[in-house]
Amino acid sequence: MTTDRRCGAHAICEWWLYSLLAVLVFALGSGGCSGSRDDRAGTRLNLLLVTLDTTRRDHLGCYDREVGTTPHLDALAGDGVRFDMAISTSAATPISHATILTGLNPYQHGVRVMYAEEGYRLSESVPTLSTILKQQSWQTGAFLSSFTVSSFYGFDRGFDEFDEGLTVPADEAFARRPDGFWDWPLERNQRRSDETTDRAISWINQTRQPFFAWVHYWDPHDTEILPPPEIVSRFVASHQNRHEQKRAVYRSEVYYMDSQFGRLMDALKEQGLYDETIIVVVSDHGEGLGDHGWWYHRILYQEQIRVPMIMRVPGWPPGVTIRDLVRTTDIAPTVLEALGLEIPPETVGLSLSGLAHGRSEAPRVAYADAINLFDLNATILERRPDDALVYCAMNSKWKLIHRPTLAGKDELYHIAADPGEQVNLIDSEPAEARELKQELERFDGFIVKPFGEARDPDVIRRLRSLGYIGNE
Ligand SMILES: [Zn+2]
Repeated sequence: MTTDRRCGAHAICEWWLYSLLAVLVFALGSGGCSGSRDDRAGTRLNLLLVTLDTTRRDHLGCYDREVGTTPHLDALAGDGVRFDMAISTSAATPISHATILTGLNPYQHGVRVMYAEEGYRLSESVPTLSTILKQQSWQTGAFLSSFTVSSFYGFDRGFDEFDEGLTVPADEAFARRPDGFWDWPLERNQRRSDETTDRAISWINQTRQPFFAWVHYWDPHDTEILPPPEIVSRFVASHQNRHEQKRAVYRSEVYYMDSQFGRLMDALKEQGLYDETIIVVVSDHGEGLGDHGWWYHRILYQEQIRVPMIMRVPGWPPGVTIRDLVRTTDIAPTVLEALGLEIPPETVGLSLSGLAHGRSEAPRVAYADAINLFDLNATILERRPDDALVYCAMNSKWKLIHRPTLAGKDELYHIAADPGEQVNLIDSEPAEARELKQELERFDGFIVKPFGEARDPDVIRRLRSLGYIGNE
């Protein structure tokens, strides 16, 4: 009898055990979460990456209260960690975005230019946040707003849903001009942030978890597609001169983009996902708006490559500002570490978790470049001849801008004392310049010939006629 009772108890235990195993197997078989938000392991957080195209750091209220009107981005900074000196690898959209998605410098990930015969596509062998997370069973979706982050650049790899926001296929979205350069007709190659936000929210609301969503906003890039008139009119006034109006339109676009970002945050909160989601907000580059005599981007002064960067990671202290120099290469390893995933060995970026928790770390050195000379989309040669090939190395105090094809045109700034880069110290501080030049050489970014020159004699002829390459 005793034995029977034990067998009976054992059988009941076995029944419970097998029932429990069956539930676990079912849950794992359906992605480990089966739609419930409560049964996920701690590290299987969602990831929301929001890239703010062409958005200057000083146009976010949490960076400059005089200029910025961005209550929703400011609120995220209050809940998370704000990086005050975040440096991008480029002031051109696909190049910078490839770094954000990979943690690699441009010479590693393969996107060096907007367009040439080669050198514009993300290398197939490079792991990205999307390929890594998809492999680990995250649902992956991209909701984008312009051609410049499209499948044309290879950014679709690893995404279950890749919503480019284009009205034509990506490889039909540009046209070669008679002068040899390339045009992107922006009126059909971009969409406003309200449409992109609609698509992203719809996907987030119905997708299973964990998910990785990349949302790309483009509004501040240009004036082809504007916010609703009632928004623009809050910023633009008839008494403003042309330049003031241009800056006012830009501010209205940043403000409108922020309102859409706010909708995205509201959707996360309504779904109970805000505290289960790593949120990263970063700009790919800034905009000149007249600083250093230039209105657009593609060069390497601070208004171009010192970008706003905010991260909210569950477990990190809220409302923290980090003043150490960090890089956009640091985003991918930070996120992968926070998700408990392996960081690819080639990654040059370093996790920001230590800084976020108040630990001091070895100072970082940032790299950036602008390969305008070999970019068929850069109509730069006529406008800014000093910016054909530009390289930058920067540490916590000093910044070197190096132009290998133009003797005597290098610049050195003491960024801590001269954040607006007004006083070039290249002649008076040769030791600092030499040290940063050596840092640049330790990177591997120098380009000495056009991409794919052997296959495009027209490019060679054009560059030669402009005096940029010899007759060899
Ligand atoms: Zn951009």
